[in-house]
Amino acid sequence: MFSDQFRRGETDKSKLTGVKRSKIVSTLSDVAWKAFQTVNQRLPEGEAIRPKWAPGPLLKSYQRTSPPLGFPRETDSLCPRCVKEVRDAVISGETTLESLMNEHPGEIKAQIVEENGQVVMRKTCPKHGEFVDVMATDPAFLERIESLFFGRDFKAAEDSHVHHHGTSNIKFGRGAVLTVDLTNRCNMMCNPCFMDANQVGYVHEPTFEDTKAILDRAVSFKPKRQVIILFSGGEPTLSPYYLEAVAYAKKVGFYRILAATNGIRFAEDLEFCKAAKEAGQHGVYLQFDGVSEEKNAHRGVGNLFDVKQQAIENLASVGIKVSLRRRTSIKCRRLRFSPFLLPGAMKTFLMTFAFSNAIPSPA
Ligand code: SF4
Repeated sequence: MFSDQFRRGETDKSKLTGVKRSKIVSTLSDVAWKAFQTVNQRLPEGEAIRPKWAPGPLLKSYQRTSPPLGFPRETDSLCPRCVKEVRDAVISGETTLESLMNEHPGEIKAQIVEENGQVVMRKTCPKHGEFVDVMATDPAFLERIESLFFGRDFKAAEDSHVHHHGTSNIKFGRGAVLTVDLTNRCNMMCNPCFMDANQVGYVHEPTFEDTKAILDRAVSFKPKRQVIILFSGGEPTLSPYYLEAVAYAKKVGFYRILAATNGIRFAEDLEFCKAAKEAGQHGVYLQFDGVSEEKNAHRGVGNLFDVKQQAIENLASVGIKVSLRRRTSIKCRRLRFSPFLLPGAMKTFLMTFAFSNAIPSPA
């Protein structure tokens, strides 16, 4: 998906015509969909389809369930400070990974409420006090997004490799996107990096054997319509075995293999782009906040627009697709799937870590 900035040479008039056209197409599609639904609901129900990957026939929309949505509502959450404490305790050996499975440290209830034109999450930890996070600056938009929830159909299979990790156990799903962090190193040092790449004083890089184990577990996910692998970090292309990891993901049969990248490596080295394509890489999510210094100022690093352009050109020339990825203006939380691929309590540990950090989007 390319942003408007790439529609070079467009005049204001042609932009307006384009907007009008897309509004007409959108309105027509809406009318056609509603007409189709009106007819469809009057027809007798046929036999439900059962795709090969599914454990049973596909459920109708009215048969699917959903978690409580809307606001105000109560939800399960974590104290961000307890999470850091328990993480440090596990790393230092003061506590075991199993305690994360069995003792549920840091778990607290949270209230999601609309306040002053925003949707916020409020929670109080008995030890660390109150925390308030902004979830949405446009309540109507959040409401709309929640209303599009597809509904839950198939229960996740009882598979101890991927589905047993305590409170955060995955109960429903058909597979989705698995983010695999290959390194916490990066060749940039952006202020809003949720990984604090290059700023934590140590390097964390799973070995190739660790990565293979994660991919092997992920591929066993059931029911599995498809699983997409997103290599991330840090800057994943700095991993010494980036290409091997891509090739292995392809070998074991993932649907799509992507990377979340700042693009520097791809801009610098066309041969590397060719090798990535050959290894099986389908696409990249390219960090891209805009074309000007101003749009990049929040990162505290210079505008790398020429680097992004070169990366796009190199990647396009070898047939790797590029999606432009912009940092959100409010804190966001990224749900990562990696925890369900790890053994035992490690899954809960990582899930805890993933949910509890108020994070701007990386790369
Ligand atoms: S935000 Fe992305 S590009 Fe910036 S330092 Fe972090 S990992 Fe590197």
